[in-house]
Parts: sequence; structure tokens; C-alpha cells
Amino acid sequence: MWRRIRVLALLLILASVAFSAWHGKANATAWKGTLQVAVFPLAADDSPATRRYIQRLNDSSFTPIADHLNAEAARHGVGVPRPISVTLGQEIGRLPPSRPQQASLPAAMLWSLQLRYWAWQNTPEMRPQPQVRLYLLYHDPALRSLLPHSSGLEKGMLGVVHLFADTRQTTQNHVVAAHELLHTLGASDKYDPATGLPRHPDGYADPYLEPLLPQTAAELMGGRIPVSASRAEIPDDLEQTLVGLTTAREIGWRR
Ligand SMILES: [Zn+2]
Repeated sequence: MWRRIRVLALLLILASVAFSAWHGKANATAWKGTLQVAVFPLAADDSPATRRYIQRLNDSSFTPIADHLNAEAARHGVGVPRPISVTLGQEIGRLPPSRPQQASLPAAMLWSLQLRYWAWQNTPEMRPQPQVRLYLLYHDPALRSLLPHSSGLEKGMLGVVHLFADTRQTTQNHVVAAHELLHTLGASDKYDPATGLPRHPDGYADPYLEPLLPQTAAELMGGRIPVSASRAEIPDDLEQTLVGLTTAREIGWRR
């Protein structure tokens, strides 16, 4: 009897967690109001340069992300005046669990669960409560020239974004953060993982341009600006990116 009640209680909890996750996502991509995005900075190393960079961050450091995505939403016909708001939250002291090296499904699933648990423990009180949480891990470029892979998870609507703590990289950081933000809303990657080249047509900013190459902008989920059949460049800032039709459908901007 008690065992049955315990199992039933557990099933109810699981069902309510699943429902609230589904409801949160459905609500966020209905675009009936402003989506609240919080960004939480973290120092990925002990470098004084990283510390200084984080100390200088303020709310206006992230307005280019909201402004650009809001302009793109309007272009795709979203009627809400300010569909996305990005707010700087407090700095987080504890690093998230690192992403597994090998891409096996069980390892990825376990990591996703660990990350969601970590995020649950590391969400400071904020008003309004954020619907999407992006954890921005800043690295000193003097200590490493390559960054770990960033991740944006639709489940839990959270992202772990690796960025350089260097003012010369700030506008490129915006591109990376916006890409991961769209992942949390259900957008998929539109590039070939083997080559990093954007996929045609949906990974191109202007898939019907003639001649097709070189392009002058990147589709945000295609990630790069295709310039030749074998080369694509990382955009310098969000002004060189746009949200394509497929991505707009995936995140609910178009039906
Ligand atoms: Zn991606």
C-alpha cells in the first residue's frame, strides 16, 4: 500500500516537472509577451584580466543582443514591441559540470541532467524571474586561444556559453551568446559539424543570392559567413547576422 503511494507520488512529481518544462517552453515561444533572459557571468580562470572584464559588465553590455533579436523578430512579423529582454544577473562562483568529451548518448543525457541540477542550485533570486538562463564563462585569451564548445539546451532553457574576456571580442561574444540563446528556444544548428561550413539553403543569410557566393552575412544558426565553397568566416558582430526562415519557424516567430 505505502509502496504504491510512494510510486504514485513520484510519478506525479515527474509528470508535473515534465508539464512545467513543456509549459515553460510553449509559453516562451508563443511570443505573447516579453521573454525574460538572464545572463550570469562566471570567471573560468583566475586571471586578473578575466576579473576586470567581468567587473566592467553591466546591463547595457548585453543590449545589442536584445536589440538585434528584437529587430529580427519584428522583421519576421512578431507583433510584441519588445519580445526579448536580456538582464545581467549576479556573478556565479561555482563552475558548471564540464561537457563530456565523447559524444555518446548516455553521457550527454547524464551531463544534461547534471547541468540542470547545477543550474537549479545556481539561479540567484531575480525579479522578473528569468525564463532563459545563460551562464557566460569568461576565459582570458592570453591563457587559451581555443574555447570549449558552448551549449544551449532546449530542455531547461539554459545555456553554457564560453567567451573571451577581452573587449576586442565583445561583439563576437554577442554572436555566440545569441546563437546559444536561440538553441534554448528550439533552434537547430545549420552547419556541417565536420567542416563547420553553413548548410545550404537554411544556413545561409541569403540562400537565393546570385551568384550565391560570397555571402555578406551569416544566418545565426549557420554560424558563419560563407565566402567560398570551402571557406566561411566568423561574423565580427550581430549586424553581420540575421535569423533565417527555418530558424524563425523553429522558435515560433513564424507559423
Ligand atoms: Zn549551435
